[in-house]
Amino acid sequence: MIYTADQSFALACDAADPLAHLRDKFSIPLKDNGKPVVYFCGNSLGLSPKTASEFVHIEMQAWAEKGVLGHDRWRPFHENLTESTARLVGAKSEEVVVMNALTVNLHFLMVSFYQPTKSRYKIVIEKGAFPSDQYAVESHIIFHGLDPKDALIELAPRDGEHIIRTDDIESTLKAGGDSIALVMLGGVNYYTGHLFDLEAIAKTAHDIGAMVGYDLAHGAGNIVLKLHDWDVDFAAWCSYKYLCGGPGCPGGIFIHEKYAGFTGSRFTGWWGQNKETRFLMEPNFTPISGAEGWQISNPPIFSMASLIASMEIIDAAGMEALREKSKKLTGYLEYLLNELTPEIEIITSSKASERGCQLSISIPENAREIFDSLRKDGFIVDWREPRVIRVAPKPLYNTFAEVWDFVSKLKSLM
Ligand SMILES: *Cc1c(COP(=O)(O)O)cnc(C)c1O
Repeated sequence: MIYTADQSFALACDAADPLAHLRDKFSIPLKDNGKPVVYFCGNSLGLSPKTASEFVHIEMQAWAEKGVLGHDRWRPFHENLTESTARLVGAKSEEVVVMNALTVNLHFLMVSFYQPTKSRYKIVIEKGAFPSDQYAVESHIIFHGLDPKDALIELAPRDGEHIIRTDDIESTLKAGGDSIALVMLGGVNYYTGHLFDLEAIAKTAHDIGAMVGYDLAHGAGNIVLKLHDWDVDFAAWCSYKYLCGGPGCPGGIFIHEKYAGFTGSRFTGWWGQNKETRFLMEPNFTPISGAEGWQISNPPIFSMASLIASMEIIDAAGMEALREKSKKLTGYLEYLLNELTPEIEIITSSKASERGCQLSISIPENAREIFDSLRKDGFIVDWREPRVIRVAPKPLYNTFAEVWDFVSKLKSLM
């Protein structure tokens, strides 16, 4: 796409945007002057669909009116999310379930998919992984009586570079060979916004006999995923960032169908028990086949209700269409930054295939002051030490005009 730097270009893009109507489905926070903020922080907490409070209210009402009899509607409540979630990540419906918070799910998945032996016990992660993932992985290594100094391999960018090259990942995996039990990466790195080649990495991991799991906190709802076809073993994501499910809302997991009849180790609870026999309350655990068998507790209905509201919108738009707009919108942001603020370094890849909607920009001087001024003026972006601002225009509700406003403001502050 050919961009130009005048404001009329942005307005023309918005006028021609087939997804422009989606913005009106979300509540955009307002500034003191009553005008909407420019919200580029949907990678941290997605905005509220206008229908969310109504969806939650319906369940509140059912509780008030029916008490325990409401369970007839709540028992299969998570199933309302199965089909849309499967389409979201490129999975079969038996391969996904929405449950728990993300880090909790990573733990449960590692119980099943990290089974170290004397010779094959190492885990590969990215250096600079989201801290929660780092803690979770280290705790499993320690839980198995191993030492993270020996059992943890951290992939790092080369000196002077920001992103980890796929070639370097592949050579690390090949060098580690049959000592590597699990490769667990953030599909899109939260800091750099780098999208790994998830298909190629899964293949290399399998070539060396390792399991591969992805944390898709910044992937689900941001990029087109084909987890089944890519033969990923497992994945987990949260739903409050790109999926706009609301703060603390439950995340999702993917477990490849080849583990549908899994008999290895897992932590269990009654919600994973075969549905026909669950309420017989018998002592023998027989799991539901597929991802649902990893469920433990009955689901949080209210936060799931708000997730259903947003997933309806995302599913109706479709990830292919959202991604197409996203590439243009972020491409435009990149273009304007290069044109108008060339002193700012974009640390995210310049290739659309290696990033989602987020650009992480490194401000050479007075970074914190510039960030504070942006925030004060209603540009909601986020700050990462030491001088990085993450900017994430989202195809669901952001506009080309907002991107233009943002870069114009930034230029005036440089
Ligand atoms: C946001 C995020 C988390 C957050 O985990 P919760 O358990 O939902 O609090 C974990 N990992 C990554 C990579 C994230 O981006």
